[in-house]
Amino acid sequence: MIRTIEAIIGEINKVKNIIVVGHIMPDGDDISSVLSLTMGLEKLNKNVRAVIDDHIPGYLEEFPFVKDKIKSYDCINKFPAELIISVDASSPDRIGRVYEHFKYARSIVIDHHATNTYFGNINWVDTYGATAQMILRLNKMLEIEYDKDISTVNLLGIATDTGFFRYSNTDATVFEDVAWLVGKGGDIGLISNMILENKPLENLKLYKDFLDVMKLEKDNTIVYSHITLDMLSKYNILPKDAPSFVGELRAIKGVEVAVTFLEAEKNVYHVSMRSKNWFDVSKVAVHFGGGGHPRAAGFSKETHDLEKLEKEVIETIKILMESYK
Ligand code: AMP
Ligand code: MN
Ligand code: MN
Repeated sequence: MIRTIEAIIGEINKVKNIIVVGHIMPDGDDISSVLSLTMGLEKLNKNVRAVIDDHIPGYLEEFPFVKDKIKSYDCINKFPAELIISVDASSPDRIGRVYEHFKYARSIVIDHHATNTYFGNINWVDTYGATAQMILRLNKMLEIEYDKDISTVNLLGIATDTGFFRYSNTDATVFEDVAWLVGKGGDIGLISNMILENKPLENLKLYKDFLDVMKLEKDNTIVYSHITLDMLSKYNILPKDAPSFVGELRAIKGVEVAVTFLEAEKNVYHVSMRSKNWFDVSKVAVHFGGGGHPRAAGFSKETHDLEKLEKEVIETIKILMESYK
């Protein structure tokens, strides 16, 4: 690991113009990793463009520095990048059109998904709970000074990807990193307020409709439900701001696998899967062309027939469940 980080530092030291890219359908770890790496590189006087080729959900857009620093695809149009660093993305399709620029620059992939396809010139793929933990290690080796701002931004991804220090990926390194970042001024209260205590009322109303179409299978060990564009428009919620209720489904007593189908654009569904104790949902995700972690994974699929897609996914889960016996 140290050798890979040293190779990454060697690449960074050689260049001035750097693109930092995060994944589409950005989450807290993605935003946190892009921002903390960008802010670190800026402290080294690098010329950095931070880009995500997708809409940023409202609750993350309001987070400090996001609007300031993370731009849409157009910002790299004429930018003479010498190096591109991709964070928290497991495969090229996850970074949208930015991947086309890999032809013209050196590339580094930093990610914590076991399903990573190693699509950079240098690939640092590790099993940390959050990619933000890997950026923290890189920044420390780059001797970046941590103040309140970068500490808070770096802490965000560790908090969100571990479900605020509750999931099974919450190992000792998570608590060590959190202690260090909070010691440097990282504001965990601000993060909890912005992420957990900031839900639009409309989301709760939608939750009621979501529960109305919920279904259970296999002695109530599998639970699934969906949100369509029609359901969203009833409450004037934009697809990019659609809440994820998959965690709520998994929390049901006796449930091992929870699945949600979100219509992200007309007839295109984002499928989110979570498991509680033993089932590996990343295998299902890879089967359908996506990826993720054993306890949290996803994929997207175009279809006119949601019911058929639901059936296919649930059947695949049932068959895989049998193979554990
Ligand atoms: P989500 O259900 O969207 O919160 O995603 C859960 C996990 O699966 C995250 O770690 C994502 O990075 C990963 N994931 C979701 N969708 C995809 C996809 N289409 N391809 C690869 N990984 C994905
Ligand atoms: Mn992510
Ligand atoms: Mn992540």
